[in-house]
Amino acid sequence: MRNKYPGRCYRCGRLVKTGEGHFERIAGEGWRVQHADCAIKYRGTDVGLTATNTKNEQKIKKEPLSAATDKGLK
Ligand SMILES: [Zn+2]
Repeated sequence: MRNKYPGRCYRCGRLVKTGEGHFERIAGEGWRVQHADCAIKYRGTDVGLTATNTKNEQKIKKEPLSAATDKGLK
């Protein structure tokens, strides 16, 4: 279906104006949009999908500060 609202293309990262792309419903994530051109260009590939997955997996690990401080002082 054509997108009724503008959004960011998950394939190339650029703006998709209303009616210039397709939107898809993703379980657990909501909606995503891609250009009509990108849908054809990247059909059958995981371009954009991989980037999204990587971003979601990036989590900052916090080291316990107390352990490092104790070492430095003693
Ligand atoms: Zn695009």
